[in-house]
Amino acid sequence: MNKEIINAPLGDGDSLKIAVQKKGRLYDGSMALLKECGIDVSNGNNQLRVQAANFPLEVFFLRDDDIPEYVQDAVVDIGFVGENVIAEKNKQVASVEKLGFGKCRLSIAIPKSGTISSMDNLDSKRIATSYPLILSKFLKEKNINATIQEISGSVEIAPRIGLADAICDLVSSGSTLFSNELKELETVLRSEAVLISNKNLTAEKQSLLDKLLFRIRAVKKAKNNKYVLLNAPNDKLDAIIKILPGMKSPTILPLAESGWSSVHSVISENDFWDVIASLKANGAQGILIVPIEKMII
Ligand code: ATP
Ligand code: MG
Repeated sequence: MNKEIINAPLGDGDSLKIAVQKKGRLYDGSMALLKECGIDVSNGNNQLRVQAANFPLEVFFLRDDDIPEYVQDAVVDIGFVGENVIAEKNKQVASVEKLGFGKCRLSIAIPKSGTISSMDNLDSKRIATSYPLILSKFLKEKNINATIQEISGSVEIAPRIGLADAICDLVSSGSTLFSNELKELETVLRSEAVLISNKNLTAEKQSLLDKLLFRIRAVKKAKNNKYVLLNAPNDKLDAIIKILPGMKSPTILPLAESGWSSVHSVISENDFWDVIASLKANGAQGILIVPIEKMII
């Protein structure tokens, strides 16, 4: 899509313009996040631009590589894109919020059986990548003198066809590397999807972005936390309260059965299993874990 098409008015002209990957690995996560934020972008039959039905947001579907430049040049106001793309494109945009999906790493990988076994062995070798800028900075830092072979796709087959000795590409599970008889040697960059913004938003656009961010943070916070309900004998309450700090402190309600209480609290996904184990060890029973939809504190 060219920049003129984007600039033609569709909505009321005051909407916040957001760029989202048109199709690919970030599409589902981006659309799911907007939906969880209560923003309905489902009813458009225009495949390139959709005006949200219930929020002043206009969604543009683009190739992910174009998103940093379009945000920098104020063709759109904000975008969802991988940190790897931001680092490679090197545009002037503000990274506003990590989004928690699209997690991957940019790694150097080498043939499973071959002469290369360490980073030092890469000196004077050829490395195929779609990330020449990130890779050249990394090699410079490590003082490695390799040749960068820039290719735009199917990087993982480059060693097999004699185009390169190693590759530098995105990895999540590692299954693509495995099926191409490659193994990871070194992580160059860790990445996830982030919200980026133009650096000179008008006050009106900034206020719309703040509203969207408020929702995104509430959704993210809810995903990182679980609601826990349990029954505890009253003589164990002190120990259980220490394990469960809650948002202020846990809610404690007496049960019909004397000597027992019901305890309600919120626990973080990160220490979830440790907390459950110590709750059980301290006499908690009937533990229920409930997902939280939104969390505003
Ligand atoms: P486009 O046509 O929009 O340019 P693309 O082929 O460049 O798409 P995808 O493969 O859809 O891009 O990946 C988009 C983003 O998803 C990547 O830039 C990265 O941030 C993220 N990602 C997460 N896991 C992976 C992975 N295992 N491989 C590739 N990208 C991943
Ligand atoms: Mg791309």
